[in-house]
Amino acid sequence: MKKRDLNQIKKILTQQLSEFLSRADCSLDGVGESNENLSDVLDRAALIAERNFSHHLCSREKLLIRKIERSLQDIENGTYGRCQHCEEDISVKRLKARPTARYCIDCKTQLETMERLTGIETN
Ligand SMILES: [Zn+2]
Repeated sequence: MKKRDLNQIKKILTQQLSEFLSRADCSLDGVGESNENLSDVLDRAALIAERNFSHHLCSREKLLIRKIERSLQDIENGTYGRCQHCEEDISVKRLKARPTARYCIDCKTQLETMERLTGIETN
């Protein structure tokens, strides 16, 4: 891959990462664990329910943040842009459209068929 393309993708990833981090209303380490001074059991139960809910909302964003961080790590390691399955180079066009992609379009198509069958998401 050309250095210019790699730099461009790195920029896209960095932008996406800061966007997600600013939008996610939870920290990556968990939601407000310090507020434990509730004596009322019902209040406590409600708080826990609320926490679990926001935790669920955040989990998808956390997953995306992890994917972006992993891609940035790959760029640093010099392994970015290679298909994890067949080890061919992923097309730059595909990477620009989906910078966190880790599979070439052929492998991804196969994997998507599997995803539909198993319900397990890959990238
Ligand atoms: Zn492949």
